[in-house]
Amino acid sequence: MGQQVNELMQMLQASLAQTLGTLAALSDAELDGHSDHPCAMGGSVRDLLTHNIDHERMHIGQVFSARYSQRKMQNSQVDRLMAETLKARVYLLGAALRGRAGAYSTARARAQPRRRAAAAYGSDRPNLRPVVRRARRMTIPVSQPLNDGHPTALKWKLWIYTNYDCNLRCSYCVAKSGPNVLRRAIGPANARRLVDEAVALCFDQVFFTGGEPFLLNDIYDMLAYSSARVQTTVLTNAMLLTQKLPGGTQTRLERLVEIANEGLVIQVSLDGGRPEDHDAYRGAGTWAKTVEGIQLLQAAGFRVRLGTTETPVNSAHLRELCAFHRGLGIPDEDHFVRPLAKRGFSREGLELGRHNLVPELTANLDGIFWHPLSTEADMQVSKQMFPLSAAVERVQGQLDALAQTGTLPLMTFT
Ligand code: SF4
Repeated sequence: MGQQVNELMQMLQASLAQTLGTLAALSDAELDGHSDHPCAMGGSVRDLLTHNIDHERMHIGQVFSARYSQRKMQNSQVDRLMAETLKARVYLLGAALRGRAGAYSTARARAQPRRRAAAAYGSDRPNLRPVVRRARRMTIPVSQPLNDGHPTALKWKLWIYTNYDCNLRCSYCVAKSGPNVLRRAIGPANARRLVDEAVALCFDQVFFTGGEPFLLNDIYDMLAYSSARVQTTVLTNAMLLTQKLPGGTQTRLERLVEIANEGLVIQVSLDGGRPEDHDAYRGAGTWAKTVEGIQLLQAAGFRVRLGTTETPVNSAHLRELCAFHRGLGIPDEDHFVRPLAKRGFSREGLELGRHNLVPELTANLDGIFWHPLSTEADMQVSKQMFPLSAAVERVQGQLDALAQTGTLPLMTFT
């Protein structure tokens, strides 16, 4: 296997150096071009390459597919190594391009030999030489077992469904949440134990989702406990922040501010830069209230990430949304777009499941699930919440089986 890994690494390094070499030859003037690639969503290639690293990882799934078809990735350890390496490649390219003005056209870039581009644009050529050198030097340690006894190779995320009730009833809600839906609260004791076990298993991040987590009075204690131990994100529609806590005098925002710390990020769902793009699926008047919530969170000093579901309504207006969030002071790396999924209440969208999603373990009162996209029966990994390590082992085994049968690619979705 060592030789196979080395060959793959050499291929990747050569390909990365070639890509960076091409980028290095391009001028900022040339970077102002338009990208025809559908994933640029009508924007520039810089948008394509740097706007949404999570989205880029979907493309990694396509690379997997190609490798499989060449029968070069039959071993699961190679599979995981490749995932890590390709992800590193995406981040490296994103870092190289981040902060540059404008964009370039991939088609034009491919058509134009490096020397001609360099001669034509000389002085405003970006200096990517250090990055190219770094790419050439890049080595991947393969002598140790990839998981070294711990399931860290996929940079595991843990999702916790805190509750299933919500102040909204969005027509595409994958969790089938709504005002009259049973709460099914996870409770602070379960949340603390999940966080403890995730930390012990070297999980990278913990996400709290619902329903609307801020309907719970004890969400603040859960978030404080988790964010003191691991990078923690809570998902919200940001519409309840100015309301008083039930039975209290403080607002939800005031209580949240009390537990603010560097490890806590607030992720708000926003589907458009215009009310009509957001309200179509989430209800009339929701956009204005959510934008107000975002601004209140920012004013209170929170890092706000935005999650957008791409729908037939907003698909043609995502550029306006990006301009809008930049205007709010939210950078591109804190905005991601995911496709509409045919799950829960949604009758349209992508068919997604265990067969095509990178696992992100998800807990609710019923046990552990493959991915937060859905806690329906077909996504269940284990009927027991604890120990988390048992679910991790089961998922790892299923990934190995997938790798053996070559039915990847898996895509990321969150
Ligand atoms: S999509 Fe989010 S805000 Fe809308 S009903 Fe579902 S949980 Fe609530």
